[in-house]
Amino acid sequence: MEIIIADHAGFCFGVERIIKKAEEELEKESLTSFGQIIHNPDETKRLKDKGLKISENIEEISTKKVLIRAHGLSKQEKDDIIKNNYVLLDGTCPVLISIYKKIEQKEDQGYRLVIIGDENHPEIIALKGHSQNEESVIIVNSSEEAEEISGEKLYVISQTTNTQEKFNTLSKIIQDNNTDVLVDNTICMATRNRQEAAVKLAEQVDAMIIIGGKNSSNSNKLAEMARSVNENTYFIENAKDLPVKEVLSYKKVGLSAGASTPDWIIEEVVNIMEDYTQEELMEQVEDSMQQIRPREIVNGTVIYVTEDEVMVNIGYKSDGIISQNELSSDSSKTPKDLFEEGDDIEVYVIKLDDGEGNVVLSTKRVEAVQAWKDLVEKYEKEENITAKVNRVVKGGLIAEVEGITAFMPGSHVSDHFVKNLEKFVGEELESRIINLDDRKRRLVISHKVVLEEEKKEIMDKAWESIEVDAILTGEVQRLVDFGAFVDLGGVDGLIHISDISWNRIGHPSEVLEEGQEVEVKILRANRERNRISLGLKQLQEKPFDLFMKNYEEGEVTKGEVVNLVDFGAFVRLEEGVEGLVHISEIAHRHIEKPADELEIGEEVEVKILDINPEERRIALSIKATIEAPERPERPKSAPKLKRDPKPRPKKQEREEESLFDDSALNTDLGSLLDDIDLG
Ligand code: SF4
Repeated sequence: MEIIIADHAGFCFGVERIIKKAEEELEKESLTSFGQIIHNPDETKRLKDKGLKISENIEEISTKKVLIRAHGLSKQEKDDIIKNNYVLLDGTCPVLISIYKKIEQKEDQGYRLVIIGDENHPEIIALKGHSQNEESVIIVNSSEEAEEISGEKLYVISQTTNTQEKFNTLSKIIQDNNTDVLVDNTICMATRNRQEAAVKLAEQVDAMIIIGGKNSSNSNKLAEMARSVNENTYFIENAKDLPVKEVLSYKKVGLSAGASTPDWIIEEVVNIMEDYTQEELMEQVEDSMQQIRPREIVNGTVIYVTEDEVMVNIGYKSDGIISQNELSSDSSKTPKDLFEEGDDIEVYVIKLDDGEGNVVLSTKRVEAVQAWKDLVEKYEKEENITAKVNRVVKGGLIAEVEGITAFMPGSHVSDHFVKNLEKFVGEELESRIINLDDRKRRLVISHKVVLEEEKKEIMDKAWESIEVDAILTGEVQRLVDFGAFVDLGGVDGLIHISDISWNRIGHPSEVLEEGQEVEVKILRANRERNRISLGLKQLQEKPFDLFMKNYEEGEVTKGEVVNLVDFGAFVRLEEGVEGLVHISEIAHRHIEKPADELEIGEEVEVKILDINPEERRIALSIKATIEAPERPERPKSAPKLKRDPKPRPKKQEREEESLFDDSALNTDLGSLLDDIDLG
């Protein structure tokens, strides 16, 4: 901002003269100014501080010397002071003294005094008081009052601080309405010079400052004239009144001061504007710079890259430096690997001054800050993160997630108890953040949560295809005494041992093995309890039905004696298919009990006598496979039993047979039988 001080600003010679006089006297002794010495409160206070007293009441004057102010006193007042034995020091402005003389001359010539000015102003009171006939003096201060004047031989003068315009207007009115009017422009040259210079300057500047006492006539008029040509005119008494911010908004400011304004007040005002201008300049410079704080991330441009550091312009008053160890989480990277001059980058502010005026920056921490933000977002959105396990600690694992250390409690490593956590070291585990401390930047993560969710998801999907009677393919997971657990693609079902086979089995391993793929039927399913009962045998044809397809009544086949009861023997024909050989069908002869003829495990040839599908019974006969012995013709005297061509040996005999050669046995038995007379 440019400040221009108008010519003739401040003290006029009349004011300067009386101030000087007062100061000289005050150096010797205190004195009293009869009325305000000048119309400027600050300057008056300064003199009061030096011992000046001010009074307009003669009886109250306590000093020996009395100073007549620059505006002058009436003759009467001067006489009163002198009569009261005070030493009178006349500080009346010489301009006024000369006017007093003119008044006296013109009145001597018969003129009546007309004063254009403020009747209450001390100068006017003093002028009037120098008239030889005070009662005849006319004082006007407006056009209306001037219009009312009527008379002859009028001597029209002005208050010394009037504006030229006002004086011209009112004096012309008086001239126009009266005859023999003598107009004497007594506006002080000092006043005129100030007014003209102030107006001229006010026309050239953006704003105008007028400094002067609010009770100062000449200062008020100066401000009035400046404002008439520049509406941005500020009338102030001192620097405290200055609306600094408002005034600083102008590029060019003019300044003038009334005749009663001391230089020191003008200097204060100028200084404060210059100081503010300087301050404002600094503020503007600083405003144009980046405002940065530690722990912030700001944008910058790489200025240069060396072997071990990067210099960055961040728009701050000083540049920033990124040292090698603050470049990247990848410590193998060098500055030149990562940056080039002119690169626009984001940097983290570590501190504002490294002791040499440089800002300490980091790009590595930008990564960490960004990573943390990402993690906070993932935590809030319950998204998975990948955790690389670094080591085992008491209570869990320490892992790294996007460059940030995280803790995984032991109970969250898996969805089942894991005794040895060491096996996870080095692994990457899909995990979820379960606790996050933003202030301390701490993470607690869980792999178990992810596993459980995955499991549930798979299970939900698996359950979509599970319904009673559905036939699914699964994999045998575990064999237990009471059955086999089969994985159906995320959910396990149990084949009870009784549902594994139509045949009796002692253990599932007789039919199944772990890892085997099997087709099973859903027998029962309970989604709430997550229980599924499976059947394996239900997908196989019942042995009896199969038997019926392959065998017919009358057919002879072989079987194994599996049970002996009083009424006969049970013979297994196929797995799961047994028939009964009634005791009467074991042999052609009468036997007491089946065990006399048969033994368990013995293979026998049987004939299928009857198949009853309804009752699922099969009647068998052993003796039907054996030729019945011929019934002997009973002789009248003594019947003789014929030899059975293929007699079934008794059990004991069969046992004995096994001890001998078959051919020998046949020969011996044949000859033996031939020799037996059964009659
Ligand atoms: Fe004298 Fe003029 Fe100053 Fe008044 S303004 S004191 S008349 S020089």
